Amino acid sequence: LSAKLVSNNLKNIRFFHSTSASLANTTKLLINGKFVESKSKEWLDVTNPATQEVVTKVPVATLEEMNAAVAAAQAAFPAWRDTSVSNRARIISNYRALIQKNMDKVAAIITQEQGKTLPDAKGDVFRGLEVVEHACNVASLMMGETVENVSKNVDIYSYNQPLGVCAGITPFNFPAMIPLWMFPLAIACGNTYVLKPSERVPGASMYLAELAIEAGVPAGVLNIIHGAKDAVNFICDDPAIRAISFVGGEAAGKHIHDRGTKNGKRVQSNMAAKNHATIMPDASKDRTLDALTGAAFGASGQRCMALSAAVFVGESQNWIPELVERAKKLKVTCGAQPDSDLGPVISPAAKERIHALIQTGIDEGAKCVLDGRNVQVPEQFKKGNFVGPTILTEVTPNMKCYTEEIFGPVLVCLKADTLDEAIKLINNNPYGNGTAIFTSSGAAARKYQHEIDVGQVGINLPIPVPLPFFSFTGSRRSFVGSNHFYGKTGVQFYTQIKTITSNWRDDDISTGVSTHMPILG
Ligand code: NAD
Repeated sequence: LSAKLVSNNLKNIRFFHSTSASLANTTKLLINGKFVESKSKEWLDVTNPATQEVVTKVPVATLEEMNAAVAAAQAAFPAWRDTSVSNRARIISNYRALIQKNMDKVAAIITQEQGKTLPDAKGDVFRGLEVVEHACNVASLMMGETVENVSKNVDIYSYNQPLGVCAGITPFNFPAMIPLWMFPLAIACGNTYVLKPSERVPGASMYLAELAIEAGVPAGVLNIIHGAKDAVNFICDDPAIRAISFVGGEAAGKHIHDRGTKNGKRVQSNMAAKNHATIMPDASKDRTLDALTGAAFGASGQRCMALSAAVFVGESQNWIPELVERAKKLKVTCGAQPDSDLGPVISPAAKERIHALIQTGIDEGAKCVLDGRNVQVPEQFKKGNFVGPTILTEVTPNMKCYTEEIFGPVLVCLKADTLDEAIKLINNNPYGNGTAIFTSSGAAARKYQHEIDVGQVGINLPIPVPLPFFSFTGSRRSFVGSNHFYGKTGVQFYTQIKTITSNWRDDDISTGVSTHMPILG
C-alpha cells in the first residue's frame, strides 16, 4: 500500500469524525446505534507516533453518557437474545465479509494511530477476522448436552444461554485484533456489549463498529464509550454488566479482575509477558535466526507474544553475531512507508522508558551489542518515537531488563548449558504467555512442551498465537480469570449453563406424596 492510498482511504472513512463541531476531528461515542458527539469537557489527543500530529481527539465520556451506553445495551438484550441463533450468525457472517472487504482501510487507520507497518496492521486485522469467522459457527459452538432416560420418562439437557450485558477493555498494541477477540463472539452468543477501546488508538474500533452496524447489528447491541481509568472503574462497578474481558498491562489487569470479581462479575484478564525463545544448537541456524529477528523486533517489540528474551543453549550462543547482522538490516521508519520493517513505539514516554531499561541493562553488566537508541530515520519523521533494534547479551535473570516487560524492540540474550537449565530459567520467570523452542530433536521438543509452564508453546515457530478453534491460553502472571479468550472457553465465558430435568409421562397415575429428597434411577 502506498502512502497516497493510505491517505485516500483515511479520507473516505473518517465520517464518524466531526468536521463542523468546535472540536475538529473528534471521535464519537456509539450509543444505541448512533455515533454521537460527547458533551465531555475532557478530551485526549490521539497522535500519530511517527510524526506527533494529532489525528483525532477522544472524549473522556461523562457518567451520563456511560450510563446511556449501558442502558442501551440492557434495553437491546431481550430482543437480541430472542433473535434466532441462525439470524445472529447471518449478521456475523455479513460482518466477516465487510471486514475482509475493508481490511486495507482498517489497516491504514491502525498504522496512522498505532504506528505499526501496513502489512503488520493487515495481520492485526486478519487475526481478528479469524475469530469473527469462527463466531459465524455460533450455533454449533453453543450446543448443550443431553442425556435421555436418567429415570423412566425423565431426560436431562442443558443450554448455554447468554449472560446479558458484557464489556471489553482493550490495549493499544492490537487495535483491531483484540476488540475482535471480544464483541463478535459475545454478541454472536446473544449478549449485548459495551466496548472501551484504548484511548490511544480508538479509530480501528470505531470503524469496525461502523462495519458491524452496516452488517445488521441492531441498535444497542454494540455500544462504545471512551476514556481511561474512570471509564474502566465504571465498567467494573456498573451492576448491569455481567462479564468483563480485559487485555493489557499487569497493573490494570489485576485491578480490573479484583474490582470486577468483587462486584460479582466474570472477568478474563490477559496481561503482560516476557516470552522466551530457547535456541538449541541442533536447530536450523538460518531459519531460527530469521524467526527470532522477526519475532523480537516486528511491531517494534510491542506484541504480547513478541520473543523478548532468547536463551541460547550451548554452542548456539556463537550465532549471536549473525543475529546482530540480521537486526542491523531492518529499516526503521514510519509504518506507512513501503520499505518499513519497524515503525515507531506508541509514545514519547514509551520511548523514554525503553531507553532507560536498556541503560539499566548496561549499568548492571549486560553488553549492548546493538544499540537502537540513536536510530536514524528520514527527516520528515524526526519527531517520531523511534527506537531501533537493540540486543543485550550476557543478561542474567536478576537484571531489571530481564525482570521487567520492556515492550520495545529490545532482545535480551541469556545462556544455558543444557535444555534442563533453560526450562528451569523460563519456569522461574513470573510470566507465562508464550515461548518457542528451536530444535531438530523431537525428543527435546517433546520434553520442552511437556515441562514448560507457559500457556502457548511454539516448536520451530515464533509467536504461536492459537487459531480460534483453540483458545489463547496465557498462564501464571500473564492471565487471571475464569475462562480464556475465544475457542470453547471463549463461548463458556460469554454464556451460562441452564440444566433442565423433564418428566413427560403418558399416563395420569398418582405416585403419591414423598417428602424424601427425590432420587432418579
Ligand atoms: P494498559 O494496561 O496501559 O491499557 C489497557 C487498557 O486499560 C486501556 O484501555 C486503558 O485505558 C486501561 N487502563 C490503563 N491503566 C489503567 C488503570 N490504572 N486503571 C484502569 N484502567 C487502566 O496496556 P497497554 O499499554 O495499552 O498495552 C500493553 C500491555 O498489554 C502490555 O503489557 C502487553 O503485554 C499487554 N498485552 C497482553 C496481551 C495478552 O493477550 N496477554 C495482548 C496484548 C497486549
